[in-house]
Amino acid sequence: MEKYQIAIVGGGAAGLFAAAFAVKSFKEKSLSSPSGLTLPHIILLEKEERCGRKINITGKGCCNITNTRMWDEFSPHIHPQANFLKSAFFGMSTSDTINFFESIGLPLTVERGQRVYPKSMRAADVTKALIDYISGGLVKIQTSCIVEKIEKSPDGFSISTNRGNVKSDKVIITTGGLSYPATGSTGDGYKFAKSLGHSVEKCFPSLTALIPKNYFKDLKTEENFCAASERTFSQIGKSLNGLELKNVSAQLMVNGNVIQEEFGDVDFTDGGIEGPIIFRVSRKGVENIINGQKVQLILDLKPALSLQQINARIEREMKSLSSVVYGRYQASNNINSSNPSTLRYLLRKMLPMQMIKPFIGMNKDLSVKNLAEHLKYLEFDIVSYIGYDRCVVTSGGVSLKEVSHKTMESRLVKGLFFAGEVLNLDGDTGGYNLQTAFSTGALAMQNCLL
Ligand SMILES: Cc1cc2nc3c(=O)[nH]c(=O)nc-3n(C[C@H](O)[C@H](O)[C@H](O)COP(=O)(O)OP(=O)(O)OC[C@H]3O[C@@H](n4cnc5c(N)ncnc54)[C@H](O)[C@@H]3O)c2cc1C
Repeated sequence: MEKYQIAIVGGGAAGLFAAAFAVKSFKEKSLSSPSGLTLPHIILLEKEERCGRKINITGKGCCNITNTRMWDEFSPHIHPQANFLKSAFFGMSTSDTINFFESIGLPLTVERGQRVYPKSMRAADVTKALIDYISGGLVKIQTSCIVEKIEKSPDGFSISTNRGNVKSDKVIITTGGLSYPATGSTGDGYKFAKSLGHSVEKCFPSLTALIPKNYFKDLKTEENFCAASERTFSQIGKSLNGLELKNVSAQLMVNGNVIQEEFGDVDFTDGGIEGPIIFRVSRKGVENIINGQKVQLILDLKPALSLQQINARIEREMKSLSSVVYGRYQASNNINSSNPSTLRYLLRKMLPMQMIKPFIGMNKDLSVKNLAEHLKYLEFDIVSYIGYDRCVVTSGGVSLKEVSHKTMESRLVKGLFFAGEVLNLDGDTGGYNLQTAFSTGALAMQNCLL
């Protein structure tokens, strides 16, 4: 049986970064005291044929690697308990991450919203930079190696894999969550954690599309979430699919109370309603659907204008319509607020073309009189959400109560560490999740090396 000092289970963002941190520490130490330094024996065990499959699909293939925010601005985007991340963040902050990647030959660029990407805009370059850095003998990478069991033994850990058994003094579990299982993240870490005595907080999909009532036909929602095979568009879903709304506001309502409000862009897709601001409200939305609460989404399509301002605009449009039509037809036309063609004319002025038909379909009582109200209050009853097959991140995971925030070591099993999405920590979109994986991976390795 091969024996190592440290075994990293899972070669995703957290596992690769933990390995890179070990290499970095070793290189720095060997510069300051080259003689007598022994190389720790480290192995990284990855289930897939290649490491970092999920990194390769991040940020729509561009990888939003981190952002430039410091703790005060970063922490509100971490859930459910940002303080758990504080020590890890201060050990490996957003600027440390940027410096690290640039130092290993990956130039970065800062884009809109303080988001940091590789200059090449290729996520695969991030994975390659990490693998190149840790290759070369310092860390043994064993791919196509499925860890099946991790057991505590008197002298460390015994790890059973499909390719034989490995012994190690310390183990870092970096197996990720449950989202996009095709990348290798199938929740195995929760099973390992439980078998070693840890509790796992209930998991649910987050940063995901919300599904309104009547968007799909015959939606089966007993399981709460909705698999791709169960989704057939209704008339309204079909007409909304593909629509992108810019600069709108979204309110998440639970049992009639507004619990979150976001401003930005919304997309209607083959998964339901998504886009940056819907992802942001999806965590609370999904959690409340699971808990059986009534969840609604209210879109304000004209958040920059008050009701009075919209009504004033409607009046102006009506007047210009009258003058145009009077000019052309010499008063033969019926320009009044009860004429349906007047309403359609106004909708064309106020909404994107694709939105008009579904907007009329969703607001049966729509008239010129109440148009402003409907533009500011477009209501969707949310009945379901897209599950792990397509959500960005898993909420829930290894309970933070049983892991030390100062070291990432288990409080229950000495020598056992956790990092990344397997923990009950998740972030908003914007580079928060990868930064969390990097910070916790680095801190776990730092303490393994002691
Ligand atoms: C489509 C998409 C886009 C995203 N975009 C961004 C983004 O732009 N910015 C951002 O910050 N975050 C993004 N995220 C989230 C981010 O990718 C994850 O939070 C992050 O990768 C988690 O890192 P991790 O190392 O904990 O887990 P993962 O990256 O999921 O890695 C876990 C690894 O463990 C391996 N593994 C699992 N079980 C075993 C086992 N039994 N034996 C051996 N190996 C095992 C898996 O194969 C996998 O390689 C995105 C996620 C998705 C799905």
